[in-house]
Amino acid sequence: MNMSDSERVRTIIESRTGYQWTDLEEEANMVGILACSVRQKAIDKVYSRIRKWNQWKHKKSLITFISGCILPDDMKKFLKLFDIVFRMSELEQLPDMIKQYGIVSPASLQPDLLTMPDNTHINNFWKITPQYSSPFEAFIPIQNGCDKFCTFCAVPYTRGREVSRPSEEIINEVAHLVEQGYKSITLLGQNVNSYGLDKKGEEISFPELLRRIGEKGKTLGSRFWVYFTSPHPRDMTEEVLEVIAQYDCLAKQIHIPIQSGDDEVLERMNRKHTVETYRKIIRGIRKHLPQATIFTDIIVGFTGETDQQFENTRRIMQEFRYNMAYIAQYSPRPGAVSSRWADDVPREVKKIRYHRLSDDLRKISAEHNKKMIGKSYTVLVTGTDRKEGYLSALTEGKIVCRFPSEDKSLIGRFADLTITSSADFSVEGKLKR
Ligand code: SF4
Repeated sequence: MNMSDSERVRTIIESRTGYQWTDLEEEANMVGILACSVRQKAIDKVYSRIRKWNQWKHKKSLITFISGCILPDDMKKFLKLFDIVFRMSELEQLPDMIKQYGIVSPASLQPDLLTMPDNTHINNFWKITPQYSSPFEAFIPIQNGCDKFCTFCAVPYTRGREVSRPSEEIINEVAHLVEQGYKSITLLGQNVNSYGLDKKGEEISFPELLRRIGEKGKTLGSRFWVYFTSPHPRDMTEEVLEVIAQYDCLAKQIHIPIQSGDDEVLERMNRKHTVETYRKIIRGIRKHLPQATIFTDIIVGFTGETDQQFENTRRIMQEFRYNMAYIAQYSPRPGAVSSRWADDVPREVKKIRYHRLSDDLRKISAEHNKKMIGKSYTVLVTGTDRKEGYLSALTEGKIVCRFPSEDKSLIGRFADLTITSSADFSVEGKLKR
């Protein structure tokens, strides 16, 4: 999400302030960070950066700014350290803040910075045309904020309540990108499949949005894949899966976070779904999208998680046979409800659980990948591979591939591969002639 936000920040800075982009931090006269209070590690990095930048100010003129998902407590500290602090939804005011830098303080420009975000101006933010950082892969925000309040997560407090972007804008942005030759488009939001619910009947639903994108895709006449991340199990209807099955441009890859395989842990996480309701979603995916790959997110060592509860998570890993799982060891996130509870699973135990589950995943993923050998796949070539003389690519199901080729003109284009070998989390192939 921050990467997508940064593309709009760049548009505003370059088009309305006279500053030009540089990738070299040392050369810049203005530097900024889109921060994330959701992870303490990310916030720690902000402090080390701003310390360094504030030292640079002794030698050259430098303006520093910060925005992103920031909790009020962090915001309070950042106001003293950065020259400019703004909410992402008020990005359009950034040029004025830069002009007024040194005349007024950041806090006096935006007195509401220390209150919870209300997303009133998010529509203006969405209207900004981003400077996409890739010529073939783009991210489109379709919604901002979250109403789910999982106890381990601070997002509802940093991004505010759910607001859906007008569907017409989303569909136009998809069409524009495809006309420009984009091949991979990801619809972004904290809770994409609750899209439209906040508008109480005045906006289309998430499956209808997908359907309209699918219909648009038919008229555009070029191949592209549309993904979405992340959906929430509670709002994952069978209709979403039925629509994806109907349209070639809707990618057959579903990322559906489960977080834990134990109902009691799910309840304490306030996930609002059970293993059984989640199981129905997996059955729906297998029924409507038998070729789809399935990804998930899992937290191990959540506060109070017992050995038995962890074993239940291992069991669902075996049952649902994910292609990929992003496994995290629980750590309290400042601002989240669970940060007030005892973080009582010892670090060593979390580590052991993490490695055990990662090992389960590795074996399952390796089995999936082995079955790909000898089959043909259309892949999107994404860049040069670490292995010399090879390019890397992704299948529609987001399985990482590499294949021997020095032809860099293939990057950003589709290619057809025959898979020749497999590894735990990737496959290797050769170009079909
Ligand atoms: S659904 Fe839960 S984990 Fe996802 S953003 Fe909302 S509160 Fe956080």
